[in-house]
Amino acid sequence: MIKDIIFDFDGTLTKKGTNVWKKIWAKMGYDVDENSYYKSLFYKYNNKEITHQDWCDLTCAKFRDRGFTSRDLIEIADKVQLLSNVQDTVKKLHEQGCHLHIVSGNIAPVIYRVLGDSAKYFDSINANDMHFDENGIIDKIVGTKYDFEGKARFIENYIKIKRISPQDVLFIGNGGNDKWVYESGCKTLCINPDLDANSDDRQIWNNLVNEIEDYSVIADIVREM
Ligand SMILES: [Mg+2]
Repeated sequence: MIKDIIFDFDGTLTKKGTNVWKKIWAKMGYDVDENSYYKSLFYKYNNKEITHQDWCDLTCAKFRDRGFTSRDLIEIADKVQLLSNVQDTVKKLHEQGCHLHIVSGNIAPVIYRVLGDSAKYFDSINANDMHFDENGIIDKIVGTKYDFEGKARFIENYIKIKRISPQDVLFIGNGGNDKWVYESGCKTLCINPDLDANSDDRQIWNNLVNEIEDYSVIADIVREM
């Protein structure tokens, strides 16, 4: 049985919904359509015109201009819903001796708030972070090293440190930013895929489950691997 499981967060542990970043841009009154500044930053990052941290810094400046606070972040986090039975399932996997990790492009305080008490079942939660000044207004976004291509780097490091085979590790994800993970040589499972996930590509995704509503099935799938 697989003992090391790395989860994506958005759309993998949570119900499909608008990306949290997009929600913040919209909440701050910015356009989020195809021609928006918000989208242009993504394309610039994608075309390697700016680094991931540049992307975070430019985003932070815009959020700060409109006075984005930690309170706003909590409000957004409280609208994110876990898939049903995620909490029972991660508890069960933890009790079975699995090491669980999250590698996400979301924001760490959002993930902790959404998971609540279940966060304790994860050995690590890796995501972007936000710092707020004494008035509660955002003053720094600390970008994660482990989004996009970085997700594969996380697993490569993990395998090296734990001295295990990549095939002992399962990654569960759903989106376009998970497409590099297979380069680490780990097993990959795509669930509830986003349109940009290339879910039918069996090199990127060894396994696919198109619709999961009840997370209990994940425990069964892991047991059979
Ligand atoms: Mg995702």
